[in-house]
Amino acid sequence: MSDYTSSSDSRAGWFDCSAGADDIKLNTHWMDGYNDSQKHAVVTHEFGHSLKLAHGPEIAVMDTCPACYNPNMNNNLQSWDINSYPNVWGY
Ligand SMILES: [Zn+2]
Repeated sequence: MSDYTSSSDSRAGWFDCSAGADDIKLNTHWMDGYNDSQKHAVVTHEFGHSLKLAHGPEIAVMDTCPACYNPNMNNNLQSWDINSYPNVWGY
């Protein structure tokens, strides 16, 4: 996991799955302004991507932007997130 700062990057975080990287990148431009719940949501979301989970509905922590809409949103795994794991990994 590593930090970077970019005001032109709308992402608060992203999972770099390029060869040899396997790194979660957190954009301090956005993360520094988030409350603990939002930070938790972003990190949980990016860990989800590291497990090959795709984006899900707004109720899921795998929502496209888990910290965007509601500072008190679900920052923990929701049923959609939990159910998508076996769909990806086959068990
Ligand atoms: Zn994402």
